[in-house]
Amino acid sequence: MAIHNSLSELIGNTPLIKLNHVTDGVKATIAVKVEYFNPGGSSKDRIAARIIDAAEREGKLKPGGVIVEPTSGNTGVGLAMVAQQRGYRTVFVVPDKVNETKRAVLRAYGAEVVVTPTDVEPDDPRSYYRVSDRLAETIPGAFKPNQYSNPNGPLSHYETTGPEIWEATAGQITHFVAGIGTGGTISGTGRYLKEASNGAVTIVGADPEGSIYSDPTNVHGYSIEGVGEDFYPAAYDQTIADAIEQVTDAEAYLMTRRLAGEEGLLVGGSSGMAVAAAVAYAKKHDLDASQTVVVLLPDSGRSYLEKIFNDDWMIDNGFADVVASTSRPSILD
Ligand code: PMP
Repeated sequence: MAIHNSLSELIGNTPLIKLNHVTDGVKATIAVKVEYFNPGGSSKDRIAARIIDAAEREGKLKPGGVIVEPTSGNTGVGLAMVAQQRGYRTVFVVPDKVNETKRAVLRAYGAEVVVTPTDVEPDDPRSYYRVSDRLAETIPGAFKPNQYSNPNGPLSHYETTGPEIWEATAGQITHFVAGIGTGGTISGTGRYLKEASNGAVTIVGADPEGSIYSDPTNVHGYSIEGVGEDFYPAAYDQTIADAIEQVTDAEAYLMTRRLAGEEGLLVGGSSGMAVAAAVAYAKKHDLDASQTVVVLLPDSGRSYLEKIFNDDWMIDNGFADVVASTSRPSILD
């Protein structure tokens, strides 16, 4: 044990934990990499640190600089935390559908939050893309990370997440499963694992039904947050995934609630989605006891207490079956 000099030193080196109860008879070992152990609470701490390091090195971020990014979620928290440690200011532009709790988290880290209307076209001057572009152009010393195209996102996973998994499994990993949002996690981690294993590790993407990655011909809305897209971001390397498993909102939410109730893992909906994809893939391909599947769980369930873990919200949004199959009769009746 030691006294650490800063919180940034604690980013990464998250644990791998074997799943014991939600694997439904799958013979392969399924282990999860729990990214809520990062100091900002998600895998996005990794990209925030590397994006800021690179911007400093390249002279894009100087003392007194300001980080401007359109984000409401984990990337904002990661950037705000690292920026605060290094003395930078942060401005996040969020659509008004983002709830007050999420805005409050960003403000708590010292960020300023600019709220923009959700129901406008992306090229409308009021849209959150355009407002963040304008702020990045007009604020002196502003730097816009742009997580969808910044190569340091995937690189952070190539340099940290991939090697951590390879070492923790002593090279025994046979499959890696991760959800795809910007694509940084699967692209960087997947590339490392393929190189380290001479192509022996199979990379499986997990994607919400309605997103472009699993079916470009049927892109529509879905409920799971943080994953799926309606375009191909530059951070996503389309050559890495060997297979993409499509998961419905209901399947993802069922597994998210089972992970909390049966494994003691309070994680977010994209984590439930990734585990559901891993179990489905292992069954479909009849993986045996010699195989080791590693699944990345991006964040904590704390951010979803008002949605996935709220029975009323679940029932109102069409997930009554999920509530019924994850509820137990009260011991008090
Ligand atoms: N899950 C959550 C909750 C996220 O915030 C993100 C990032 N958008 C992802 C999964 C996907 O990670 P990536 O952007 O690296 O594909």
